[in-house]
Amino acid sequence: MEKRELLYEGKAKKLYKTDDKNLLIAEFKDDLTAFNAQKKGSEDGKGAINCQISANLFKLLEENGIKTHLVETLDKNNQLVKKVDIIPIEVVVRNTATGSLSKRLGIEDGKVLPFTLVEFYYKEDDLNDPIICSQHALLMGLVEKREQLEELVEKGKKINEVLKEFFVKRRLNLVDFKVEFGIDRDGEIILSDEISPDSCRFWDMDTNEKMDKDRFRQGLGSVKVAYEEVLNRILEEK
Ligand code: UDP
Repeated sequence: MEKRELLYEGKAKKLYKTDDKNLLIAEFKDDLTAFNAQKKGSEDGKGAINCQISANLFKLLEENGIKTHLVETLDKNNQLVKKVDIIPIEVVVRNTATGSLSKRLGIEDGKVLPFTLVEFYYKEDDLNDPIICSQHALLMGLVEKREQLEELVEKGKKINEVLKEFFVKRRLNLVDFKVEFGIDRDGEIILSDEISPDSCRFWDMDTNEKMDKDRFRQGLGSVKVAYEEVLNRILEEK
């Protein structure tokens, strides 16, 4: 499958049209951004690592009954994916308090939450991706029906269950993550975008070291080393 016209360029990926109107090519970039792109950087090879991480996790989720947009990996930076209409809601799933949750509500950083928290953020850079409630999402027409919001919560929780168990075996604590969903041509809500250390927080269960984009956000260094380690652990047979 060949790349045709560039359809969209985001912070971490480019999306290209193909000769099949139902399929796109997603190219993973080496760029890193944080704080709504106020901090910018790049790590050689990061795109290829995330492409592999995301493909492996999407395959794992498919095996567990969660439909995704992934069709196949084409080469180290490129995936063939189903074209979907992205729902402009970032679904954030949290097991442990940190980041904006701790900042906003004063919940102690590192506190294990008594239940899995699922939050919605409106995907709109100009507004700084504000947190929203279900009524806001309906009011703005981000989805058509309330049931679709319930489906996003259910899918977020299911993804969390599968990934959390997978990563515990690899001595990584899945602290929180962000996922995006799209509506495919059959009207079904499917997992889209990516799941990688750019969009998840992983803490090493033995050393408590951060193994994700917080290394870039907080200027801790060794960003690529940490991403590579996450990939290596994903590839471990368990
Ligand atoms: N996240 C993301 N993209 C965003 C915002 C958050 O992938 O635009 C991820 C982030 O990596 C973390 C989770 O969502 O795994 C929760 O992030 P949080 O709300 O704590 O935001 P932050 O502290 O990064 O501003």
